[in-house]
Amino acid sequence: MGSRKVTSSELLDWQGKHVTVAGLGVSGIPAAKVLHARGAVVTVVNDGDDARAREQAAELEALGVTVRLGDGATLPEGTELIVTAPGWKPDKPLFTAAREAGVEIWGDVELAWRLRGLDGRKAAPWLAITGTNGKTTTTQMLASILKAAGLRTAAVGNIGVSLLDAVLGEERYDILAVELSSYQLHWAPSLRAHSAAVLNLAPDHLDWHGSMEAYARDKGRVYEGNRVACVYNVADKATEDLVREADVEEGCRAIGFTLGAPGPSQLGVVDGILVDRAFVENRQKNAQELAEISDVDPPAPHNIANALAAAALARAFGVPAKAVRDGLRAFTPDAHRIAHVADVDGVAYVDDSKATNTHAAEASLAAYESIVWIAGGLAKGATFDELVAKSAKRLRGAVLIGADRALIREALARHAPEVPVVDLDRTDTGAMLQAVTEAKRLARPGDTVLLAPACASMDMFTNYNKRGDAFAEAVRELGS
Ligand code: ADP
Repeated sequence: MGSRKVTSSELLDWQGKHVTVAGLGVSGIPAAKVLHARGAVVTVVNDGDDARAREQAAELEALGVTVRLGDGATLPEGTELIVTAPGWKPDKPLFTAAREAGVEIWGDVELAWRLRGLDGRKAAPWLAITGTNGKTTTTQMLASILKAAGLRTAAVGNIGVSLLDAVLGEERYDILAVELSSYQLHWAPSLRAHSAAVLNLAPDHLDWHGSMEAYARDKGRVYEGNRVACVYNVADKATEDLVREADVEEGCRAIGFTLGAPGPSQLGVVDGILVDRAFVENRQKNAQELAEISDVDPPAPHNIANALAAAALARAFGVPAKAVRDGLRAFTPDAHRIAHVADVDGVAYVDDSKATNTHAAEASLAAYESIVWIAGGLAKGATFDELVAKSAKRLRGAVLIGADRALIREALARHAPEVPVVDLDRTDTGAMLQAVTEAKRLARPGDTVLLAPACASMDMFTNYNKRGDAFAEAVRELGS
């Protein structure tokens, strides 16, 4: 880790500044309103021109904001700054034109970062979390721990409260638990967190970033300028490499988390106890007990890792050990993340519909001994050999659904030829009930029927929530 003095973000004078907001939507509309209210001359550009966009445009136009629908490619004349929706790809013509004209591009996170601490308010520091999987869970765990310590906080960013609301709204915060996606980090050049964690790194969204290196680089941005701790995953060397490459403040420490016994400057697990050997006096000799594995819900290995990462960030902010335990106990995971739906005839039915990529599904499959696996959907360019090879010994059987199920079937044939596979080639609303019925047939008492699709859901469902709901509904029908 190098070190560098970071200057505080400058106060910008927005009066008369020509700002182009790229994209109507969850981040664009609030950004346009906030900038307009500060005196900026705002133009919103949007690719789509449907009824919903027109409605949103009319609302903004009534305030005095210019909106251009159906043309997100052309840079409006006189643009001095672009504020973009995080999902807009960096190679869009709008951005090429902006770069050629020397116009800065900020995302929603950058805007919030620059606007925090204005209007005479004290800026709450940020504890930032990114990674391929586990971001939402870890951010919520962190917020729960911070609350247990009596701090005013919220889980914000890619979840829940928007960052703009968090920095400009009525509520005052002592500290923010911030979930950041790789897109958001790409567009947040001056963000400087108090401390940050990269939970893990596996190929995802590569079409957007262009390459694994570019994806990792954007994730690694979260460590830039950290003041107290860069938290990394000991089991995932790529995260540690990112810490090493980051430019941080003098004195900032690299803190590892591990499911094994922790070394000095690490948090880990000893005899079922989560322990801290980083934020203690004399860490060569001492360790502080934080919580028990049974305090973490669900106590699956990847989720213990999430808890350790959350604990590391909280401890970096000075939170006492007891608050870590209380916060973890108070935490309940969001729906469709390893949610235990029911036991039917001695078989557990678990909904991890949120496992939309192979890395997530691998973590999920590692949490159970004997599994009937329901998988499939849209593969998004993924391959399944590694996942199937690693999980083969745990599979009692597999039921495959969705558009790209043949990819999983072929991987099973290569790496787990003895595992019985049911291939369902229907995508209608009854498909999930049939999948669950087939899974029940394959399962024996003590097994887990696990929906961990390793794929996106949109070929059959509106989103992963609906897929998980359909699973739970089917299980209930089965049990009744
Ligand atoms: P994100 O916000 O990064 O999508 P979530 O907390 O919503 O992460 O979890 C998404 C899915 O990823 C979960 O359903 C689970 O299958 C998996 N998951 C959660 N934590 C981890 C982890 N630390 N490592 C690997 N997979 C994980």
